Amino acid sequence: MNALNPKNRSSPPGKITIALYRIAQAIQNIVRHRAAALGLSGLQLQSLLFLRYGRPAARTMGGLAQHLHVGYPAASEVVDALEKKRLARRVTDVQDRRITRLSLTTKGLAEAEALENLLDDVEDIIAALPPAEQAVLERSTQAIIRRLVERGVVHVADMCRYCQFFRPHAHPDQPDAPHHCAYIDAPLPESETYWECPDFKMKEEA
Ligand code: SF4
Repeated sequence: MNALNPKNRSSPPGKITIALYRIAQAIQNIVRHRAAALGLSGLQLQSLLFLRYGRPAARTMGGLAQHLHVGYPAASEVVDALEKKRLARRVTDVQDRRITRLSLTTKGLAEAEALENLLDDVEDIIAALPPAEQAVLERSTQAIIRRLVERGVVHVADMCRYCQFFRPHAHPDQPDAPHHCAYIDAPLPESETYWECPDFKMKEEA
């Protein structure tokens, strides 16, 4: 234990923990450098991605605060800055005035789409590993993330395919909405299964 102390890094768990820490640092650096190049803060960059890939119903000030793991005032400050840069806008929900809905402007959408290659360097390195190593890595990292979610250290929002509540092709007689979400108990169109969903729950280990 205590892998941050170099004396304690000889065991496989210690070495792997520090390796994951370094990968997290590398990704933080990639995000920070790209954000700086665009004149954005790291939180502003993450917010653009949230407003691009988050489930549309979750694109609210509260949803953004939850996504960024910050309070409502801090999320509001991020949106202030994005509005000043004409990348995002906020509107009050017409049916429930307590809800502030967020969306990207045309400029914000272009900027968010240009960020899609942000993690390509990391993905390229993983793609160069032998397939068997990739399979082990995928299984192991998923298991680690599952435990971190159970401990409340991280919240994962992902797409339907990997969610416990997803029932693919449950409505074969409804071509417009052939899938089903057991969480909201409603049919799902194919196009709605690709958003990062705040209600996502990882599947149990196979
Ligand atoms: S909870 Fe969200 S991610 Fe899970 S099946 Fe329903 S819509 Fe999809």
